[in-house]
Amino acid sequence: TTVAEPVRPGVALVGNAAHALHPVAGQGFNLALRGLMTLVEQFRLAQEQGIGIGDLEVLGRYQSLHRQDWQQTVRFSDSLIRLFGQSMAPVAAARDAGLVGLDLLPGAKRWFARKAMGLSGRRAVIDRPGNRPQETIGHE
Ligand SMILES: Cc1cc2nc3c(=O)[nH]c(=O)nc-3n(C[C@H](O)[C@H](O)[C@H](O)COP(=O)(O)OP(=O)(O)OC[C@H]3O[C@@H](n4cnc5c(N)ncnc54)[C@H](O)[C@@H]3O)c2cc1C
Repeated sequence: TTVAEPVRPGVALVGNAAHALHPVAGQGFNLALRGLMTLVEQFRLAQEQGIGIGDLEVLGRYQSLHRQDWQQTVRFSDSLIRLFGQSMAPVAAARDAGLVGLDLLPGAKRWFARKAMGLSGRRAVIDRPGNRPQETIGHE
């Protein structure tokens, strides 16, 4: 579920207040942190541009960037529910074969592990004076 209006002038909802996910894939907190860092990133940009951090333009950018991450995370969680919620024999067999395949293919296994650990969502870029240029917060 998600709220219809996650931002208003001077107000931005983050975490469960903005979106709640099925806990099956354990992604909600990871997503909340990425959302928070996207918000901080937009605050930083607003500061550089001399715009107030509560301006709807600033908060709207947070909303639209984070929405993409949120939608992808929901799709990932929902696909796991659909896949593991099926008890039909052919689907269960394909699922088991897929799990064996995942174990045999290191690249696929790494991709899935990063996804499951919440490391594949949007990576916010927060350059503060004194930060190393490559220093980023969030995930790729
Ligand atoms: C079983 C389960 C397992 C999970 N496992 C994982 C996992 O492995 N990895 C992961 O990333 N995520 C996981 N999650 C999701 C994660 O718990 C949430 O995404 C995360 O807690 C959201 O943090 P939040 O601070 O936004 O909201 P919440 O943790 O829901 O915090 C909101 C707080 O506000 C308080 N509150 C509510 N209304 C009021 C009010 N009117 N006045 C004052 N206080 C109020 C509540 O009591 C609560 O303490 C799991 C969730 C569940 C249910």
